[in-house]
Amino acid sequence: MNLKDYIRSIPNYPKKGILFRDITTLIKDEKAFAETINQIVKKSKKFKVDKIAAIESRGFVFASAVSYLLKKPFIMLRKKNKLPAETFSVDFELEYGTATIEVHKDSIEQNDSVLIIDDLIATGGTAEAAAKLVEMSGGNVSAFIFAINLFDLNGSDNLAKKGYHVENLMD
Ligand code: 5GP
Repeated sequence: MNLKDYIRSIPNYPKKGILFRDITTLIKDEKAFAETINQIVKKSKKFKVDKIAAIESRGFVFASAVSYLLKKPFIMLRKKNKLPAETFSVDFELEYGTATIEVHKDSIEQNDSVLIIDDLIATGGTAEAAAKLVEMSGGNVSAFIFAINLFDLNGSDNLAKKGYHVENLMD
């Protein structure tokens, strides 16, 4: 099964000139969804994983299934003001403007090895912010796994150059 066949490409979304890679067509096919999760689980076996963290909101779709199969705790990295208890917070640059992601202060323990999962990496700004949250919490990023790598934006390569382990299912 070629997972790429299940990704729909939408021109000029959310802005003119952007080709959006839509994963809803992948996850609505139960076989393609299962295959995606199995491939992520397989790639995760190379790393020490105490906990799994994912980025709101498409990251949650993949990561919670992986967390269930690996029997590992699941940590939500959420957009600003969504988490009710005390948080660590990281601001980062988007293509236009800035964004903030947060994690509960009691989600990650000192020296936890945390696997970060998201649906897609583009510039890598979101992934780096996620890594900062894990590190501010006292954890280590054991690896990143992305379903889709938009390789022309170099996010995945840049994370690897910074010394992180990065795995992508599709380029
Ligand atoms: P980055 O911070 O690496 O530039 O952007 C990655 C983040 O934006 C991810 O959390 C991802 O969900 C979202 N994203 C950016 N472009 C796309 C796209 O074409 N398709 C999907 N599904 N998500 C995208």
